[in-house]
Amino acid sequence: MRNVCTAAPQLAGLEPYDPKYLPAEAFLSANENPHDVEQDIRAEIMREVKRVPLNRYPDPLANDLRDMIAEANGLDRDQVLVGNGGDELLFNLALAWGGPGRTFLNLPPTFSVYDANARLTNTTVVNVPRREDFSIDEEAVLARLDEGDIDFLIVTSPNNPTGELANEEFILRVLDATDALVVVDEAYFEFSRQTMRPYLAQHKNLAILRTFSKAFSLAGVRMGYLLADAEVVREFVKVRQPYSVDAVSQAIARVVYQNRAKFEPGIRTIIEERTRVIEGLRMIPGVKPFPSDANYVLFHVENAAQLWEMLYGRGILVRDFSRAPHLKDCLRVSIGSPEENDAFLKALRDAVMGKCDLKVPSA
Ligand SMILES: *Cc1c(COP(=O)(O)O)cnc(C)c1O
Repeated sequence: MRNVCTAAPQLAGLEPYDPKYLPAEAFLSANENPHDVEQDIRAEIMREVKRVPLNRYPDPLANDLRDMIAEANGLDRDQVLVGNGGDELLFNLALAWGGPGRTFLNLPPTFSVYDANARLTNTTVVNVPRREDFSIDEEAVLARLDEGDIDFLIVTSPNNPTGELANEEFILRVLDATDALVVVDEAYFEFSRQTMRPYLAQHKNLAILRTFSKAFSLAGVRMGYLLADAEVVREFVKVRQPYSVDAVSQAIARVVYQNRAKFEPGIRTIIEERTRVIEGLRMIPGVKPFPSDANYVLFHVENAAQLWEMLYGRGILVRDFSRAPHLKDCLRVSIGSPEENDAFLKALRDAVMGKCDLKVPSA
C-alpha cells in the first residue's frame, strides 16, 4: 500500500473542534435552549416536512425563509443569507474576506471557531486581547485598525464565553474608522435584546450574524443567518456550497421562525434564571461569576479543572475553559431549566465546600 502525502501545511497543529459533549444528566455545556421545540410547533413541523420533495434539490438560497427573516428585520431578500448553522457563515466569511495575504483582527478570549477558520484559510490573525475583566481594549483596537491592513474583524456581542455585550458606541466608532468588514456576532441577541440591526442602512461594512441554535431550540437542525449589505451578501454567495442548507432544515426553520413569538416566555425565564444563577454563584466562597447578557455564565474558581470533574461526577456537564488561553481556572455554565440550575448550584457548592474540608487537618 502507498503512503499518503501530508495534508495542507496550515492543518499542522490545528486541533479538530471538540464540543466535549459527554453523556450527562444536565447538559449545561453548549448554550442550548433547555426546552425542546414544543409539541404544537413540532406537529406543524411534521406536516411541513411531509410535503418536502426529497428527490429534488433544495432552493439553494432558501428564499422563502430569507423573505421571512428579511421582512422581520425591515430588509430586502438580498440583504439576508442563510447558512448551515452560523458556523458555516463564519467559514464563508474567512473564505470571502480572508485568505493568503489577508488579515483578520481577533479579540480573544472569544469563540475559538474564528481563529480556526482564519488558520484554515491561511489568513493572518492579529490578536488584540481583552482586558483583565474581558472588556474590549477599545483604544487598542482603534489604534490597530488605523494601521490600515485589517480586512475583517468579528465583534461578538454578547461575547462567548465571557458573556458581556460590546459597547454600541465603540462598534459605531469602529465602523467609521475602517473599511474592513465588521461582523457583529449576535448569536445570543435574543437574550441580550441588543442589536446593531438599525445601523445596517448607514454602514455598508457592517454584517450581523445570528443563529437558530440558541434561543430557538434548533441546535440539532443547523440554521444561521447573516444580515448585511446586498454587495456583501453577494460575495458570500460566491463561496458558499450551493446546497448546504437542505430542504428539511428549511421547512423546519420556516415553521419555527413563524412561531418565534412562542419562544418568548422561555427566553424570559432564561434571563430571570441567569440573574438567579449569578447570585447563587456569588454566594459560594471563592467563586467569581462574570456579568452576562447571554444564556450562560463564565465563572472563575480555583482548581477549576478538578471542580469540573466533581460536577461531571454528579451528572452535570459544564464547559471547561480552565486550560484555554486567557481563561485560566474558568468554567462556563449554560442556563438550564430551574431544576438543572438548582442541581448545578448545589453540586458546585458541595464540591467547593468538600474541598474546603479537605484542607482542614483531621483531629
Ligand atoms: C453558537 C454560536 C454560533 C453559531 O452556532 P451555530 O449552531 O453554528 O448556528 C456563532 N457564534 C457564537 C459566538 C456562538 O456561540
